Amino acid sequence: MLLTGLSGRPLSGRGIGPAIRARLEKLDIHDMAGLLAHLPRNWQDRRACTRPEDVRQGDAAWIEGVVTDHIRQRIRGGRSLLKIRLDARGCPLDLVCFNRDYLARTWPVGTRLFVWGSFERELAGLSTAAFEAIRADDPQADLEFGRLVPVYGLTEGVTQRTMRRIIFDALAGIRGIGHDLPDYLVARRRMRPLDELLLKTHYPGTEAEGLAARDELVYIEFLLFQTGILARRARLGRTHKAHSYSSSDVRETAEAAFGFRLTAGQASAWEDLRRTMSGTEPMQVLLLGDVGSGKTAIAAMAILLAVRSGVQVVMAAPTVILARQLAERMERYLAPLGVRTAFLSGGMALDERKRILADLAGSRIDLLSGTHALFHADVIFSRLGLVVIDEQHRFGVKQRKALRDKGKDADYLAMSATPIPRTLAMALYGDYGSIRIEGIPEGRIPVETHWLQGGQGLEEALSEVEARIRRGEQACFVYPSIGDEDDDSSRAATAAWKRYARTGLAARGISLLHGRLDDREKESVMAGFMAGAAGLLVATSVIEVGIDNPRLTAIIIFGAERFGLSQIHQLRGRVGRGGLPSVCWLVTDGGGTESGFARMKALVESTDGFKIAEADLALRGPGDFLGLAQTGLPRFMVADIARDGRMLELARRDASLILRQDPLLESPHHARFVRENPEGGYE
Ligand code: ADP
Ligand code: MG
Repeated sequence: MLLTGLSGRPLSGRGIGPAIRARLEKLDIHDMAGLLAHLPRNWQDRRACTRPEDVRQGDAAWIEGVVTDHIRQRIRGGRSLLKIRLDARGCPLDLVCFNRDYLARTWPVGTRLFVWGSFERELAGLSTAAFEAIRADDPQADLEFGRLVPVYGLTEGVTQRTMRRIIFDALAGIRGIGHDLPDYLVARRRMRPLDELLLKTHYPGTEAEGLAARDELVYIEFLLFQTGILARRARLGRTHKAHSYSSSDVRETAEAAFGFRLTAGQASAWEDLRRTMSGTEPMQVLLLGDVGSGKTAIAAMAILLAVRSGVQVVMAAPTVILARQLAERMERYLAPLGVRTAFLSGGMALDERKRILADLAGSRIDLLSGTHALFHADVIFSRLGLVVIDEQHRFGVKQRKALRDKGKDADYLAMSATPIPRTLAMALYGDYGSIRIEGIPEGRIPVETHWLQGGQGLEEALSEVEARIRRGEQACFVYPSIGDEDDDSSRAATAAWKRYARTGLAARGISLLHGRLDDREKESVMAGFMAGAAGLLVATSVIEVGIDNPRLTAIIIFGAERFGLSQIHQLRGRVGRGGLPSVCWLVTDGGGTESGFARMKALVESTDGFKIAEADLALRGPGDFLGLAQTGLPRFMVADIARDGRMLELARRDASLILRQDPLLESPHHARFVRENPEGGYE
């Protein structure tokens, strides 16, 4: 989007042959746009040459010198050591080169070199084994010294030097490209031309200049993206849906039927949702709420409102287990109120399926639930008015659209138990597209969380679990991998299942659940566990979604460092749902990194999914956070949602100003925005 004119332009230039091209592919660089958008991670300050006497031990610096000698030594293991001795303004400087004898030929005595390295002070002078050097008369010396020098993310076979050269050449080839944004915006934001921004990001005069140029690029990218979203919204807003909702006492009816009163957070979310549904334009809302905040009840109320207003509802969830459970819950909530429900699954007998489809077309079904089976073309509603999707980020954009297209201007309600941080929600939906349930129902006891670093304390945890199982509660062990029959690694579910089958933990049965089981097997394991057929469930993260079992009070997550923060939060959310005090243990390896440490700490200290999600986003980035393909987000070229929240907000503000003036982007000033969103905007 950002560099539209350059995308698709094949990688070419001095020194870019098939070999380099193949390596660049690994960095996701496929064309000139990708190359230019490969922004430096940071810059090294190589503006001034340092005098040898001013070099501080261990600091990186630029030193200039002339080669005076080559000293060769054999060292252990048959390796060779070459010391290239330089005279740096009277101070001896040794470049220590392991297994790089050829450098003696590259840099013969008398060669003048620029050296960038971190230097050690020796008795007689300086030495370095970690350095970059270039002949002072090399044409590229100008690029590498006497300025701030970009440091790029690399891949095998592509050096910093190569990357610097090809990007610098590419920069020279784009002189004069602009961004084609409206003049009034350019004036207001004092925006610079694109070629200048790119040059300043790769080769800034100062670090501040580089950061500012990068921010401006990010802003442009976000602006193009946000205008697309908002334009689509504006168009939706002008569509009058054929159905409308009317029913005044949904809340009273629901509270009486559900057997609880809405929490304050639920009540205000419902108020928002009811109002949005009642609007004349098709609704598109993401209902956000922490694990256990009671989203299902709110969705049930929306369904009730829809059904009472004479339209049909379809409800999809990404896995069979989750879909079944959600459907059962809806049935429990809504069947007593006269809502006619049905479930459509992939493995269903043909005549049963036929009957359901006939009932659906004949308006004898109000709420149809299921998984991907719902998307089939032969699933035809007589009057679909509302689409409800759980864990919507697990569906592709196309799938979601396919479902919505089964109705005319159907309203769309997505639920996410993955607490999407504000910045990400804004990027995905815009701020008027999400409704948040604050807080969780009262009386729930927070799950006690312990971190067992290096497995310390695991024995105690296991006996605690056993005691719980013996008194009729249930427990779950989660592993990062399935493991093969003969893999007895401590991280594999299968091995653990075998191991614990012989212990007291299996006193009331032990089940195994993982992704290699087919849907039917998974379902039967889950159903058995929910019914209390096993005291302990050993699983991989397939249980992440889908279990809502009030007897489940203990969970141990092995190899916790392998899971994302939000994922662990979800897993932890499986316990503590029935009012019994519950525990979660996080088992990690002995070692571990600082960020791993920070992550475990965040989990032990907080049970607030949104806080955890923000931390997760910051630590991992949005791609990992939700699985890039699944976020439904475009791949940004330079922007990073985790880092660039401020620019996103600014771009969003400007985008909404633009759309307010020109809702259909008809003005010639806004041609670029239309060009970037040919399909009518990103969905
Ligand atoms: P979520 O889908 O947001 O994780 P659920 O809708 O599954 O949460 O609700 C979690 C549990 O809390 C369910 O057992 C539900 O019946 C119960 N619940 C929901 N709302 C309330 C409420 N207002 N008061 C008491 N319990 C509630
Ligand atoms: Mg739920």
